[in-house]
Amino acid sequence: MAERIKLALVGIGKIARDQHLPAIAADNAFELVAAVSRSGRVEGVPNFNDIAALIESGLPVDAVSLCTPPVGRHRIAAQALAAGLHVMLEKPPGATLAEVHQLQAQAAAGSGRSLFATWHSRHAAGVDAARAWLADKQIKQAAIVWREDIRVWHPGQEWILEAGGLGVFDPGINALSIVTSILPGALRLESAKLVFPAGRGAPIAAGLAMVLGEAAPVSADFDFRPTWPQSWDITVETDRGTLMLTEGGARLWIDGEEQRTDGIGEYPALYRRFAELVAAGRSDCDLRPMALVADAFLLGERTETDPFAF
Ligand code: NAP
Repeated sequence: MAERIKLALVGIGKIARDQHLPAIAADNAFELVAAVSRSGRVEGVPNFNDIAALIESGLPVDAVSLCTPPVGRHRIAAQALAAGLHVMLEKPPGATLAEVHQLQAQAAAGSGRSLFATWHSRHAAGVDAARAWLADKQIKQAAIVWREDIRVWHPGQEWILEAGGLGVFDPGINALSIVTSILPGALRLESAKLVFPAGRGAPIAAGLAMVLGEAAPVSADFDFRPTWPQSWDITVETDRGTLMLTEGGARLWIDGEEQRTDGIGEYPALYRRFAELVAAGRSDCDLRPMALVADAFLLGERTETDPFAF
């Protein structure tokens, strides 16, 4: 068996515990050798307070996987690349497009270091089959409805409603990662409405009007407030039927009939892909979902709503 990739996990919060640690433990291509965290601890491996301490320790490490919030991730990733490590980034890959472009250039300048900007929702069970079905259809219109209760899914995560935390685009960008991957053609933003809670730096709701190719309208309704019903649905109307992805891409329906789907799970698939990229010395950094979000902040009309407390 090829030598395992010695991996350090950085930022031990909700997603690191819920998804990354189990996926790494189940993947023979990786060996978790360290954790980097200001407050959390992972049993059974050395823990470091920051990336500099890990690098200075001299512990043999090949790669890091970053699970910190987007603001601040660039500094950590740049230090890791400078130390010759492969880098996997949680979504969104950074706080600004320019900082991710810099990381791409830094990775490309090194010899064989991989930079992987992950989009976990693209590995939901129905997404590959949806892309294949849509490939030869003419898209008439599409609609995204992504509405989840921030208190359930992001308990106490104050950073998410701070500037750079993306607010409702934190989950919304998952939907954008799916549509940019399954819809044939380029998507661009035409207009947006952003709703900010008083005193907060990121929106709690947003509506986007996009266009696919020349004329097909694609709408997005993102809301962090609903306690019920929640939905993570994408509907695509084509010249030969209607496709629906529900439950964040996990289930696929064509003209109301559920289709068989498969997949190994979103995070196992991400780590499998990272191992492939490392073996090939290649990077994968698709910024289209993030560009749509950046454009929404550029173009969006802003309104204020009631203050929000977790
Ligand atoms: P979280 O629970 O708040 O954890 C983030 C961790 O990052 C913290 O525990 C903290 O760990 C570290 N950190 C470093 N600098 C920080 C700062 N300035 N403010 C707060 N934490 C800081 O967040 P999360 O839900 O795991 O999300 C992390 C990333 O994963 C985000 O980009 C998010 O979009 C993505 N993600 C989250 C989910 C989800 O369902 N929650 C799903 C998919 C992807 P230390 O104390 O160890 O430094």
